[in-house]
Amino acid sequence: MNDAPSPRCVICPRQLLDHETGRYICLPCEHRIDQDLRKLAGPAGLYARLCLRIQPGRGGSDGPVVSGSSGHPMPCNEQILSLTANGGIVSTLETWVEDWASYGLARRGAGGRLQHRVDVAVETLRLNLTRAASRHPALDEFGREIQQAARQIEAIISGERAPRRIPVTCPCGTVRSVTLDTDGFQCRGCGTEYGHSEALKLTVAERRAA
Ligand SMILES: [Zn+2]
Ligand SMILES: [Zn+2]
Repeated sequence: MNDAPSPRCVICPRQLLDHETGRYICLPCEHRIDQDLRKLAGPAGLYARLCLRIQPGRGGSDGPVVSGSSGHPMPCNEQILSLTANGGIVSTLETWVEDWASYGLARRGAGGRLQHRVDVAVETLRLNLTRAASRHPALDEFGREIQQAARQIEAIISGERAPRRIPVTCPCGTVRSVTLDTDGFQCRGCGTEYGHSEALKLTVAERRAA
């Protein structure tokens, strides 16, 4: 056959070693994704800590919340609310659970409180991550979204302003979120490639659909 180059990890993209044959991603990348997932869940996880940041009585306010003690400006309460509410982090996770379940790689949760739903989603994704590493073709996108979720919460908790994420909708109906400085992405629904400006144009479609 052709002298095809040996396969590379779709994330880093290191050449896969002998013991990684048949996988989409290398073991270190799998480990990193697992760490990010683990950080998000649990009573002391990033999601729970972000929920503690919600300022009571400031829901719906557009103004920035200023912390009293340190004097550093805090990110908008609005952003924390949208990340912690239904449609935020929990939906990012559950969208992947739904996607993985269609590959037989995850078990859908039974609902419940948001924190419980986050924990259940993280649990099933972590449980199946090793199998997904050789069976799920979109692990790069998964890894990126999980890492972005973790980074975004860490940035808020540490007090810096995280890049604003905007939901975009591909004409095929697939929704994802991008930042204003996105390099572009490939739609996981239909495979269409979007560059920076094309990606940002899709935000209009989202508003129309909403
Ligand atoms: Zn890798
Ligand atoms: Zn699409």
